[in-house]
Order: sequence, then C-alpha cells, then structure tokens
Amino acid sequence: MEVRNNVQGYYVSNVTRKAQKQNSLKFLSDVGLKKDVVDISTQKDKKNALNKSVIIASGLAVVGTALYTATRGRLNIFKQAAKSGEFINAKSVKEAVNYGKRDLKIRRYENSELADLDMINTLNEMLHKEKRLTGEIPQVIRFLKKGELHVTAPMGYKLDPKTNKRVLFVNTDTFNRFDEVIKDSFVERGRGTGLSNFIALKDGKYVLSDLSYKSNAMDKFIEKLNTFNPNSSFKDKMELYQGISNAKSAAHARNLGLKDYKMQDFAFDDIFVHEMGHMHHRSIYPRYEEAGAQMTQLRKDFTLDTETSRIPYRVSSYAASSPLEFVAEVYTGLRKGQHFDNEVMSLYRKYNGPLV
Ligand SMILES: [Zn+2]
Repeated sequence: MEVRNNVQGYYVSNVTRKAQKQNSLKFLSDVGLKKDVVDISTQKDKKNALNKSVIIASGLAVVGTALYTATRGRLNIFKQAAKSGEFINAKSVKEAVNYGKRDLKIRRYENSELADLDMINTLNEMLHKEKRLTGEIPQVIRFLKKGELHVTAPMGYKLDPKTNKRVLFVNTDTFNRFDEVIKDSFVERGRGTGLSNFIALKDGKYVLSDLSYKSNAMDKFIEKLNTFNPNSSFKDKMELYQGISNAKSAAHARNLGLKDYKMQDFAFDDIFVHEMGHMHHRSIYPRYEEAGAQMTQLRKDFTLDTETSRIPYRVSSYAASSPLEFVAEVYTGLRKGQHFDNEVMSLYRKYNGPLV
C-alpha cells in the first residue's frame, strides 16, 4: 500500500476495526534465537566498514556464516560477514537501531519500543539487501501502534511532505494479533474471496476443499497456515500475509472469469519489495501524486483500462486498485523474476514503472 493523507488499504481490510472493538489484541511471544547472532556493537573497524560498502557496491554474492560459527569464533564470523556484505542479526533492539543508523544510514527509527528484536532484525536485513541492490532505502522507519492505521496493511510507504524524508511504516498491531488476521481472512464478505470458499478445517488442519484451486502455491500456502503458531516469526507472518492476499486474489480473478488463473507464489519479503516499488516509483515519476489521487484523468484512464481489458487483474486484484498499486505489484513480480505479458508491461511503462 501507499500511505497518503487519506489512508488507503486493501489487504484483508475491515479486520482491524472489528478486532479492535473486540479488544482482542494478543501479544505473541518472541521467536526463537537465531543461530548466527553476532554482537555487532563490537564491530568498530572502519576499514572493514569500507570494505563492506565496496563489496556491497560490486554486488558480490553473500557467503554463509554457519560454518564459521562452528570453526572460527564470533569475531572472525563478523569480519567474514563484513567482507562478504552479509547481514548479521543484532542481539538487542538498541543494537539493531545503532546498526541501522550507522551502516544503513537510517536517520530515525520512530517508536522502536514497539518493535521486537525479530521484527527489527528482519527489517534491517531487508533494508540491507535493498540498499545493496538499488542503492536507495527509506530514511525513517516508523513503527505504528494499534489504532494508528485503520487497516491491517502490515507496511506502508510515504514521502513525508513536511520533512521530505522517505518513510517506511510498519503496522505492529497486525503482527501482534496475527491469529485474528488469519481468522478474518476466512470470513466471506460477499465477493467470493473469503478463504472459507475453498479451504476448510478438517480434524484441526486446513485442507483444500475445492480442488480446482490446487496449485503449488496453494499447497505451500496451506502448509504455512498449518504450521503457523504463537511463536511464528515476523518472516512467517509476512509470508502468510502475502499468501492470504494471493489466495484471495486468485479467487477474485476466478470470479471475474479470468481463464487459467492460478494463485501466484509468495515470499516473506514481497510486501516490503512492494513498498520499495512505491518508493522507487515516487522518485522517478513526475505524475506520481496525480496517479494516486482519486479523480484525476490519469486515474480515470487507468480505471477504464481495468474495466475494459482487465489487464491489472492478471497481476493481482490489488494491482487493479490504482496505477500506483499496479506499478508496485508488477515491480514486486519483476524483482522475483516473474514474466508478464506485453499488455501488462506496456501499461507498466505507461505509468513509468521503475526498471528492474
Ligand atoms: Zn501499495
């Protein structure tokens, strides 16, 4: 999603208000310890930092640290990681904030007390990768608490009009009560996209009840649903959120009569990459604001395209909601190596979609 003055949201909408009314906020416990945690606060070697950035710039492949953990001890692991440009998890939120400020050049982490260690480490890991790949990342990470965003969208992006800073929002409430998010995705809201239309609970396990929905992505999604538990990580939740979105999107495409539409594959960082799509798009597209605003000609043209040709629906139903969401959704697919047909790509170029 793209956060504007009037907040727009799509993913599993209507959930938050209902859940908030029920006061059903649940704080899930922290995830298990990561194997390759290294104390990054001990790393003060400027030369290594320089090496790191040079190697990052040249885009060399990441080298794993697990082997070194067993054989060479903590300091060597860190040196190796710095040389290879690999991301290392911090051991505390404070340390993660310091790392982000120093190495990723994040100006501020706002309300970082709302983030748990797993969440902020995962965010830093994605930011680290984004910086290596594209050179541009948000300048401010803002954690939102319950009630600040009236949709369950887990993340959002906006260029702050006052400070002109690139801001990534993280809706911590969505992750804190993720069991409610899953539960709500099964509720049918009149469009035939509720998961209960094709997934059922049988003997305490989720199973595909409509076999015409069967695909590799759907199998994977149902497996992820079944393995979700109160200790599931931030990555697990992000991945499941995208899975829910893609499963619903497949149901929507089917209801629209799109032929041979299968659920798209999903990954934990899809939502983050989608937000980065907005960020990169915003920085190169002069008509970005106009394309996002409700009643502009540009927006009307897009709606017309959507209604007459249904091109955006081939990407996702969310892609059909605005030119900006269309671009961010295609961008996410392109980053994953997905191929789109000529009509999708020409629409992407029409709205100045960033080159991948
Ligand atoms: Zn978006």
